[in-house]
Amino acid sequence: MKEMNFPRMANQHVYEQLKEKGKDGLQFADVITLFYALMSGRPICDGCGDLVVGLYLTCSKCYKKPGETFNLCPDCYRNDMYSHPHKEFVDNFRMLQTKRIEFLNIQSLIEDASSINKQRTPR
Ligand SMILES: [Zn+2]
Ligand SMILES: [Zn+2]
Repeated sequence: MKEMNFPRMANQHVYEQLKEKGKDGLQFADVITLFYALMSGRPICDGCGDLVVGLYLTCSKCYKKPGETFNLCPDCYRNDMYSHPHKEFVDNFRMLQTKRIEFLNIQSLIEDASSINKQRTPR
């Protein structure tokens, strides 16, 4: 995982999460799950190190900066099990809603601009 540019995936937590109980190593289906997690950009919790499969929270300050984001699973967020200088977190659904609102605002600006241009066009 480190060699493949996914250094944060190289931890025992993720391995144990993916591994089917009672089996020695990763099975084919587990590897497919891992592949999906890598390609879809599922985050690793910066509190407990688990692969976060559902709801997660991200630091809104780090989200807007280049570089690594700081992500937490709901348990670590709820129980304050992390150390990070910022305290402003948003969940992934809230982020999607924000993106949608930004997109719709840009769309309406484009529509306004093109209707102004049409009015100016001489007939
Ligand atoms: Zn966690
Ligand atoms: Zn932060």
